[in-house]
Amino acid sequence: MSKYWSPLVRELKPYVPGEQPKMQRLVKLNTNENPYGPSPRVLEAIREQLDEGLKLYPDPESEHLREVIARYYGVAANQVFVGNGSDEVLAHIFHGLLKQDRPILFPDITYSFYPVYCGLYGVESRPVPLDENFRIRPEDYDQPNGGIIFPNPNAPTGCCLSLKEVERIVGGNPDSVVVVDEAYVDFGGETAVALVDRYPNLLVSQTLSKARSLAGLRVGLAIGHKDLIEALNRVKNSFNSYPLDRLAQAGAAAAFEDDAWFQETRQRVIDERERVTAGLAERGFDVLPSAANFVFCQHREHKGAALAQALREQGIIVRHFDKPRIDNFLRITIGTPEQNNELLIALGTLLQAT
Ligand SMILES: *Cc1c(COP(=O)(O)O)cnc(C)c1O
Repeated sequence: MSKYWSPLVRELKPYVPGEQPKMQRLVKLNTNENPYGPSPRVLEAIREQLDEGLKLYPDPESEHLREVIARYYGVAANQVFVGNGSDEVLAHIFHGLLKQDRPILFPDITYSFYPVYCGLYGVESRPVPLDENFRIRPEDYDQPNGGIIFPNPNAPTGCCLSLKEVERIVGGNPDSVVVVDEAYVDFGGETAVALVDRYPNLLVSQTLSKARSLAGLRVGLAIGHKDLIEALNRVKNSFNSYPLDRLAQAGAAAAFEDDAWFQETRQRVIDERERVTAGLAERGFDVLPSAANFVFCQHREHKGAALAQALREQGIIVRHFDKPRIDNFLRITIGTPEQNNELLIALGTLLQAT
């Protein structure tokens, strides 16, 4: 705290990202990265940009990238917004669309950046409890609100709504913007992009950090009615006109152009998720059904915090949230088969020893 801080900064409670440890040789299963890496074509596209030099500003509108994404999803380029990671896209969404007179709604257990943006932009919110199975109940969103946001699949639970259930929430709230944060949708969910032409209040956000294994490049996107996209452009152009550098624009476009790589690597993650889920169940864990690249699980006899600490001592990092309702759970990212084996073996030994 310093006397030079603005009143706003004094009140902020910033997001705490999952640890990015400096230690070597860790089995890092705590921030939901995809272990397979991006398509080689992404690296090639980035290298070409390097050869052309970085002395010029990038295209402020990321036109080529937005056209590639628009073609991929069968929408128009003016229905696509891109930003420096979907966290930045979400920030502009809170600022430009969700800051309204009434409180917005999101689940009580969800992506912990949402309350942080509320603090930053002065957005009132009302939590909507997940049901006893940690699922979003669409009918709970039939109440007055200034907007709605939820991840699908939800984080950190991994639980997924069907497209019908998403449509129930979007259609039931025609006077509010409904944002579906699809950071993990490619691991087993059904995207709501197919609904954007029917619902002018629907905005879908996605990221290249997870299924496309480009967390280090920082590219996210939103798809919706052109008037919603226009709101995001107004905020962006009042904040940073060049959010995506040349490398990010070229690399992201190449990622969408290599669909074979995408399909194969995401399927490998899905297959491993099913194997890890079975392995955890054998070791006494209750595992929530996951449609993401992580599982959310609790052991029937051992505390989550203690297990996370014991794994860490063996060089395996998983995420534990010290929060009401979920403080006994671990969120474990699906790694390579070798990493997942190390996890399962370590847990087997730990649980036998105690
Ligand atoms: C990872 C994640 C994001 C942010 O991804 P970026 O890396 O900023 O693109 C957004 N929403 C949820 C639910 C996430 O888990």
